[in-house]
This record gives sequence, C-alpha cells and structure tokens, in this order.
Amino acid sequence: MSTALPAIVVFPFVFVFGALIGSFLNVVVYRLPETLLAQEDPDEAEEVSEIPQIFAPRFLWALKYIAWDIGWMFVYLFKELPKELWLVLKSISFPASHCPTCKQEIAWYDNLPVLSWFILRGKCRMCQTAFSFRYPLNEFICGLLFLYVYGMTGLNIDFFLWSGFVALLWVIFWIDLDHQFIFNVTTYPSIFIGIVYNVSKGTTSHSLWGILIGFALFEALIFLSIVVLGKEGMGGGDVRLVMMLGAWLGPIGLSSALALAFILGSAVGIVLLLRQRESIPFSFGPALVLGGLVSMRLGEKLWTWYINSIYGNALGLI
Ligand SMILES: [Zn+2]
Repeated sequence: MSTALPAIVVFPFVFVFGALIGSFLNVVVYRLPETLLAQEDPDEAEEVSEIPQIFAPRFLWALKYIAWDIGWMFVYLFKELPKELWLVLKSISFPASHCPTCKQEIAWYDNLPVLSWFILRGKCRMCQTAFSFRYPLNEFICGLLFLYVYGMTGLNIDFFLWSGFVALLWVIFWIDLDHQFIFNVTTYPSIFIGIVYNVSKGTTSHSLWGILIGFALFEALIFLSIVVLGKEGMGGGDVRLVMMLGAWLGPIGLSSALALAFILGSAVGIVLLLRQRESIPFSFGPALVLGGLVSMRLGEKLWTWYINSIYGNALGLI
C-alpha cells in the first residue's frame, strides 16, 4: 500500500468523501439535463430525414450519417463544448441546494449524505415534500465506488483522477436512465483527461488505441444497423461513452467492458421483451457504465481467465 495511514482511518475517510461527492452528483444529475435541454434551439435542431426503404439509397444515407457524425464531433469540440461547460458549471454552483416545492434552502445539517434522508424520514423539513430514496442510495453507492477506486490506486493523485472518471460514469448512468440521452459535455472532458493521464504514465498508445477501436467499432455498428435494420440503433452519445472507456481502459479493458455490457444489455432486453411482449427501446449507456466499472479493476483478469479456459479446454481435448 502506498499510504502509511492504517486502513481503519482511511476507509471511513474515503467512504465519507465519496458520499459527499455523491450528494453533489445528485445535483448534477438533476440540473445538467434541465439546463442543456432548455438550451435547445428548435431552429438549430438537426434535420431528421427518414431512412430510405430501398437498399442503395439507404446505404448512401448511412454513409452520409457517419460522415455527418464524425464532422459534428469536431464542430462540437470547438464550438459547443466551451459554451455547454460554462452553462453546466454555472447551473451546478448556483443556487444552493433547495427544496423543489417550497424553494427553502437546505441547511448543511439537513444535507448530510445518506444520514439526513433517514433523520428527516425522506421529507423536506419545511413543507414535508417527499424526497426520492434514490438520493441517499446514490450517496451510499458513491461511497462504495470511491472505496473501490481506493483499492486499486491507494491514496495519491491517481485516486483523484480515477475517482473523477468513476464519478462522471455514474452521472452518465443516471442521466441516461432518466432521459435516454448521453450529453457530450459529460464524455468529452473525460476522454481528454484519460489521454493526459495515460501520457503521464507513458501509455499514450494504450489510450489512443482504446479510443480509436471504440470509435470505429460503434460507428460500424450504427452503419450496419442503418443498412440492415433500417434504424440507427445507437446514438452518437453511446459512441462518445465508448471512446471515454477506451481512453481510460485501453483496448483490452475496453473489450472486457463491452463484452460485459452486451451480456447485461441482452439480459435486460430479454427481460423487457418477456414482460412487455414487444421490443421496446432502452438505453445502452447504463450497461456500458457498469461494464466499464467492473472492467476497470478486473478487465485484464477476465481476459486471462477467458483465454485460459479456452486454451485449457483445447489442451484437455488433445
Ligand atoms: Zn420543502
């Protein structure tokens, strides 16, 4: 362990720190979509043309779509990202946490992570409006997630960098569940920090290959989905999330994350299909986030285990 402090001191500290960040993330998950969706200019809304029914035009349509998406990636980086970052930073720093019903500011002693919800029995002290159980749950999970990061890095600068990666993944998880949308403002900065982190570790190519493979694979999936099924299947937000995973985890970690996400996504898809008796769209982002979180610590081990079990069986047959 890289720290001289005993675990009994560090564990509670890391957990409480994570829970406090979780409390802040609750604000981000609530305000970020509210701010950016309100910004949408109807005149600037992307032109939605129907995917053609006939194969040849559909093939061309898919090519154009991919080209447009790649172009948009760079336009966004230079034109939209600084504007959106500023808006989001402003909206999450002001005003202070308040009850959405009576607008009363929440005092610090009523805003203790996990505890306050139970002390106030999930209600506003002033007007008794019920607050969702999701808030304390999210704070508790963030405490655990930060312990999970600590187990990998110890207490040093890497801990804070990986915690930032995990915190943003967790924001993406909730926002995609709520809105079926992944905002670029949550993925782009993390892609950039992931590259810088790997440059500092001397593993630049690891990061760049992760981004490139994730990008190429998901653009190809969207292309095939349009040509074969006649629907986009996934959005540009999913591509950016996969690039973010690649930037941090590299190609091996990314492939484990994707394998786990596809297994989880199919399982959820089948359950939904059995319950609703029809195919309903659901967001793939949360499955990608969970796959990424597991793969972050176990990705390479999973590969070793998988390859060993295949070679082990192959050798057993000889
Ligand atoms: Zn209230």
